[in-house]
Amino acid sequence: MNISLLKDVSAMKMFDIIARKRDGKALTYEELEFFVKGIVDKKIPDYQITALLMAIFLNGMSKKETSELCMLMAGSGDVLTFSDEFITVDKHSTGGVGDKTSLIVAPIAAACGLTVAKMSGRGLGHTGGTVDKLESIPGMIMDMSIERFEQNYKKTGLCISGQSGNMVPADKILYALRDVTATISSIPLIATSIMSKKLAAGAKNIVLDVKTGSGAFMEQPEEAFDLAEKMVEIGIANGRNVSALVTMMDNPLGRAIGNSIEVIEAVEVLKGMHVGSDLYQVSVALAAELIQMTSGKTIGEATETARKKLKDGSAYDKLCEMVKTQGGDPGILDNYKGFKEPLYMHEVKSPEDGFLVSVDARTIGVVSMNLGAGRSKKTDPIDYSAGIKLVKKPGEEIKEGETIAVLYSDIEDMTEQQATFLKACEFSDTRLPERRLILGRVTKGKTEEY
Ligand code: URA
Repeated sequence: MNISLLKDVSAMKMFDIIARKRDGKALTYEELEFFVKGIVDKKIPDYQITALLMAIFLNGMSKKETSELCMLMAGSGDVLTFSDEFITVDKHSTGGVGDKTSLIVAPIAAACGLTVAKMSGRGLGHTGGTVDKLESIPGMIMDMSIERFEQNYKKTGLCISGQSGNMVPADKILYALRDVTATISSIPLIATSIMSKKLAAGAKNIVLDVKTGSGAFMEQPEEAFDLAEKMVEIGIANGRNVSALVTMMDNPLGRAIGNSIEVIEAVEVLKGMHVGSDLYQVSVALAAELIQMTSGKTIGEATETARKKLKDGSAYDKLCEMVKTQGGDPGILDNYKGFKEPLYMHEVKSPEDGFLVSVDARTIGVVSMNLGAGRSKKTDPIDYSAGIKLVKKPGEEIKEGETIAVLYSDIEDMTEQQATFLKACEFSDTRLPERRLILGRVTKGKTEEY
């Protein structure tokens, strides 16, 4: 590049920063600050931002750089702060299919006296979002002012809302540019992107659910552990208590995939049902992390506490309180009457006798999206009643002609989705050994098998 084309001091400075990262050097705090500020103030052109992103993609970032970039990104917009009287907790999942654990973990934590003031996202592509799921409850208000958000968590200890408009603007710009320049899959960039939003959301105690497998962002376990370790390091370097579980997402979690049907399944767990299921196990394990880091209990004791909050109904009561405070009718959670009903239902039948081995999570996420439960682009509308109910889960025996799943939609012709669903299923003549659900746990400086 001809340096004379760089007309101002800012462009020249950015040129030097790109060159240093291109040559494998670590960027200083001052350089990172210049970069983040320049992005938000629109002083740096997209071609220079993306050149630096590619240099980071190729050469990585040190622990110090990653933590500093993340902290600067977190501070690029609105930041939530909480008074010390609240023991604030948050949870993040890197995204999965049928993953409704937030709807279970958050009420368990609130039932333990912890404060969950959580900003969640909407679904995109094959993965769902907590905000869409909760919006399937008629009347639920998910977009609210910061004042209303504060009133709600102070009243019930539990508030889940959509993201405030001006949180982490630097990430919005960087993510959009990464998306079109093949730089999404950089572990330091993913870690800073996710953790900047968690830091800005203000909670002191954070549990991360890093998914791995065919339906996950990080398909390989090694990548998932690497991401988990980086995110835990960032959180700790920024004064938060953070732990991460690496959990499997090769099959959908639970039996429901969609919006209202996922809420119903989560509510059933909160009512004490599905004990021991994959959904129950992951939810209890995540809640136990938060209980342990805020109480000094051992992980075994924290797990018992989480189970107790499901068994005694106190977590369910917390969800009802939250729904009422946010404009919904908790009575709907009692009898499920009032959720939108789908116009059509179609069964998918097994073509053979044997055992269901797997149901590819990513394909099922796409089928659910095509039935109307998700969005292929941000502006697509959602059908809250659309989705899939797995009658059979991987590991279960099945006979030819028996129903594997029921598809729900307002679209009458589901022939193509039924065929795609079947292609996502793998069968075997023999029962295969049970697969591990939670692969490992990452805490400060320590990675261990679960
Ligand atoms: N989710 C995020 O928020 N950011 C990424 O970079 C990847 C997944």
